Amino acid sequence: MTAFELFLVLAGLLMGSGIDAAADRFAREESWIAGRSRCRTCERPLAWYELVPVLSWAAMRGRCRSCHAAIGWSAPLTELAGGALALAGVAWAPPGTLVFTVLLGWLLLALAAIDLRTYLLPDSLNAAVLALGAVMVALTCPADWPVHLAGVVIGFGLLWLVEVLYRRLRGRDGLGRGDAKLLGALGMWVGAPGIAPVLLIASLAGIAAALAGSVRKAAPLRATSAIAFGPWIALGGFVVWVMQPDDFWLSSQIY
Ligand SMILES: [Zn+2]
Repeated sequence: MTAFELFLVLAGLLMGSGIDAAADRFAREESWIAGRSRCRTCERPLAWYELVPVLSWAAMRGRCRSCHAAIGWSAPLTELAGGALALAGVAWAPPGTLVFTVLLGWLLLALAAIDLRTYLLPDSLNAAVLALGAVMVALTCPADWPVHLAGVVIGFGLLWLVEVLYRRLRGRDGLGRGDAKLLGALGMWVGAPGIAPVLLIASLAGIAAALAGSVRKAAPLRATSAIAFGPWIALGGFVVWVMQPDDFWLSSQIY
């Protein structure tokens, strides 16, 4: 592993910490990037040594030092996910796309963290996935624009159609518009041929998670149970992006 790759993984741990805090603030309808990190229970500002990813949480045994409120698992898990996504990029990013791949992973982690808390996928983050994908296409495979643009249209159009038909047939909302926007934005990355595999992974993972959740809560899964689908679309998109065969669409190499 090069020094730069190690830097990306360590940055991923910090990025995960920031994403967890930002998702919490978003869920409480506070400003995303507001001031110092505080204990979510007693509001005491945290010292730098309480903000070291994973280690601080482990050292404090998952509790605030002053009020002893449980900090919960979301912080260490999101931090580890940020590092793991960078590691996945180092291991599997298509040639010449390491930085793009890692940034994509962190954007998707932020979308997932927010969707799990609020059932919302902010337009700004979906737009960032789309814009980063467009820059990636422009710099690494400009000859393939049609395939990637078709991915955007098909990805958005497909889930938009499902959303509209479901509402018409069942008289209530099934999918959020954010899900269609996210799949469209990921279409820029995986191209038209990648949409079906993304949806397959997203559906299987989403169903598995919903079943696991209903077992844990000992409540039966109903057609009306609220399920965040965004995290699973994000997972499918990242997996299909990193698992594409080398030089499938990418012609040149640029960091
Ligand atoms: Zn506290």
